[in-house]
Amino acid sequence: MIQASGPPDRIAIVGAGIMGLFTAHHLARAGAGPITVVDRGWLSNGASGRNGGGVRQQWETRATVRLARESVETYRRFGREFGYNIWFRQGGYLFLAETETEQRHLAQVVSVVQSEGLDGRLVKPEEVPRYAPGLVTSGLLGGSYLRSDGTLYPFPALWALKEAIIQQGVDLRLGTDVTGVRVDAGRVTGLDTSAGVLPATIVVNAAGGWSRELSARAGLSVPNQATRHEILATEPVKPFLDPMVTRLRDGLYFSQTMRGEIVGGLSLAHPPGTQAGMLSSPAFLRAMARALVGILPSLRHLGVLRAWSGFYDDTPDGLPVIGEDPRLRGFVHANGFGGHGFMLAPAASRRVAQAVLQEKTDLDPGLFSVDRFLTPGTGRPVEGLQLG
Ligand SMILES: Cc1cc2nc3c(=O)[nH]c(=O)nc-3n(C[C@H](O)[C@H](O)[C@H](O)COP(=O)(O)OP(=O)(O)OC[C@H]3O[C@@H](n4cnc5c(N)ncnc54)[C@H](O)[C@@H]3O)c2cc1C
Repeated sequence: MIQASGPPDRIAIVGAGIMGLFTAHHLARAGAGPITVVDRGWLSNGASGRNGGGVRQQWETRATVRLARESVETYRRFGREFGYNIWFRQGGYLFLAETETEQRHLAQVVSVVQSEGLDGRLVKPEEVPRYAPGLVTSGLLGGSYLRSDGTLYPFPALWALKEAIIQQGVDLRLGTDVTGVRVDAGRVTGLDTSAGVLPATIVVNAAGGWSRELSARAGLSVPNQATRHEILATEPVKPFLDPMVTRLRDGLYFSQTMRGEIVGGLSLAHPPGTQAGMLSSPAFLRAMARALVGILPSLRHLGVLRAWSGFYDDTPDGLPVIGEDPRLRGFVHANGFGGHGFMLAPAASRRVAQAVLQEKTDLDPGLFSVDRFLTPGTGRPVEGLQLG
């Protein structure tokens, strides 16, 4: 896409979440540009400022394990590279299975993870309290555990990337709504924004839960679906829990922050779309309190400090959408990350930058290109280890 001759491409990235900021960083480092990042809100307006900070490499698709493993490496050196402590703590991820089907699922995940050279393992019910003291094990058939998974604190990652891209000469425009995508003769020519027209030969759709709306503004129909997910943080207690604990049955997940708060959520059906806004519901508070106290009765006296919500950007197969849309020259997808975009962002955004630069990537287009939804086909892989 970057022109071999003639004026350089003008790149506009919609969304200043973790995907948009990381993509801008990779592109600026490669000397591409000029680059503008536009967001209608503030830096952590979207899911990037509302997530549980979980970073795991346990997946059932090999390609996702690889993106996650590369991202873990980036997060491990993030502090040295960007000068911000993101409190990345590799306390592991512990998945819990209560049925034979769930156990088989975890066994399959562990075999993929191990074949990728990671130290994942199956866990017996009696081993669980070693990782999560006080956890009720009745009804458990087993679990899986990977020590190098972990949690981080999302905000400093966003602050660091913001500072980095500004130093790299990227034009960051917060509080600027993108209301239209300009198209001429099958290619992108710019954006209509609340602050006027922004000329662009490349538009990166990193709009998270609003990516479907942005694609529609470019005349493109995509199957992405925003779904609201709720989450809460409790009062702090003395640190006792190392891993992120996740239960397959109901998507319950929780971890303990370094300040001692328990942060987590669980699956609760909400109508799809962004119209309902990012609110919390008493139904979630009740369901989450019941689930948490049921599995860790010692938490029963804890108060909830905060509850909030944000949007997952889901795709039908649970895999993200990365790369240029074959229907519109210059329109590049960086979306569809569901409930795991923060943990995949460092590696995924590098592939988005490669797509913009028209460099070869190691990504399987059958898995990540929007093409997979445009051409009918069967038997394609699905990433089924979704939670929250
Ligand atoms: C409750 C919850 C828990 C989660 N837990 C985890 C977790 O533990 N680990 C993990 O890896 N992931 C988790 N996720 C998912 C993760 O947060 C997201 O996948 C990731 O942050 C997506 O980043 P993004 O940059 O693609 O989108 P976002 O961070 O949503 O950013 C998109 C941005 O685009 C802007 N935008 C949209 N439309 C327009 C427009 N028309 N004009 C201008 N700006 C626009 C928005 O304002 C927003 O700031 C969770 C998500 C939620 C909601």
